[in-house]
Amino acid sequence: MQQVYLDNAATTRLKQEVLEAMLPYLQESYGNASSLYQLGQQSKRAIENARESIARLLQVQPKEIYFTASGTEADNWALKGLAMAHQHRGKHLIISSIEHHAILHSAHFLERQGFEVTYLPVDEFGVVQPAVLTAAMRPDTILVSIMWANNEIGTIQPIAELARIAHDHGVFFHTDAVQAVGSLEIDLSVVNVDALSFSAHKFHGPKGVGALFLRNSVKIEPFLHGGSQERDLRAGTENVVGIVGMAKALELALADLPKKTAYTQTLRDQLITEIRAIDSKIKLNGHPTQRLPGNTNFSFPSMAGDVLLMSLDMQGIAASSGSACSALSVEPSHVLLACGISKELAKSALRFSLSDDTTQADIDRLLVVMRQLLQKVSQ
Ligand SMILES: *Cc1c(COP(=O)(O)O)cnc(C)c1O
Repeated sequence: MQQVYLDNAATTRLKQEVLEAMLPYLQESYGNASSLYQLGQQSKRAIENARESIARLLQVQPKEIYFTASGTEADNWALKGLAMAHQHRGKHLIISSIEHHAILHSAHFLERQGFEVTYLPVDEFGVVQPAVLTAAMRPDTILVSIMWANNEIGTIQPIAELARIAHDHGVFFHTDAVQAVGSLEIDLSVVNVDALSFSAHKFHGPKGVGALFLRNSVKIEPFLHGGSQERDLRAGTENVVGIVGMAKALELALADLPKKTAYTQTLRDQLITEIRAIDSKIKLNGHPTQRLPGNTNFSFPSMAGDVLLMSLDMQGIAASSGSACSALSVEPSHVLLACGISKELAKSALRFSLSDDTTQADIDRLLVVMRQLLQKVSQ
């Protein structure tokens, strides 16, 4: 049976060239980067080369990149570390109501520690309106965190404008860019954010390695305490092989990006047109144009999302109902509810996420199976 992978927002396939770049660091180059002999210094050099390469691609300084064990860790660190380091100036944070759980649950934790959090509403397409952020700013606000692009519905936020509003009020701005880095053109010499999280496995790199970009002068509390790795801010022996893989994956992802974006978007738009042609009651969730090149998210009024998902799986097609992290929960997606979608429609939502690995044959196969499944229902 033809296997069709359409869950690239959950994770992506490791590229062959990334694996090849990593292999020496799983085999002969196993030194600890803190060791002073040559084997250790090889690892140290590999980490610093990776840092320089990633910094160049994002237009920042190498010392502004800190490696972590995941996007989740980078998000936790940014929120808790910035809140802790700046709490003398106030204890109010602002995040959007459609954040990933890595941000949402970190905010809940901070509330239990005495911080106050405002959860910004979004419009029907999942966009945070800049005026809504402006209205939420308070004298005791210290941090705003709004994701660059949403993992469920793919909506891209007006990040430059939102960051400007925070800065106009003297407030730090963090963005969870885990879905954006590797998929969108990101130039941090133009978009002025103070902190940004990203993760290698979302752009064909290895799982278990992420990074936090932190603007030079910004103070943060360490998240892990121990050795002096990552300029005393993130202790623990470095994941050399993961870091090398992350740098290679980002280099590959950003090479010919406009061409890859055009390719993925063409398949995405074809999928959107054809799915909606099956039944006019099928709804596209998220923004009609301001969305990630690989994201589609539909509500199917005639069928529960999890039933559809199981039927697709039996046909060898991998997709997702809402976000992978809550795949076993029966709760409707907090993102879709925040967009004003009914509980029922939110429960019938499915996400098909494409990447530059996706082929026309994948889309054709999905459409054949979807037509069969949905026509069975309507008979
Ligand atoms: C995947 C994802 C994360 C978590 O990253 P991990 O590296 O899997 O921990 C955080 N935020 C968003 C938007 C994501 O898509």
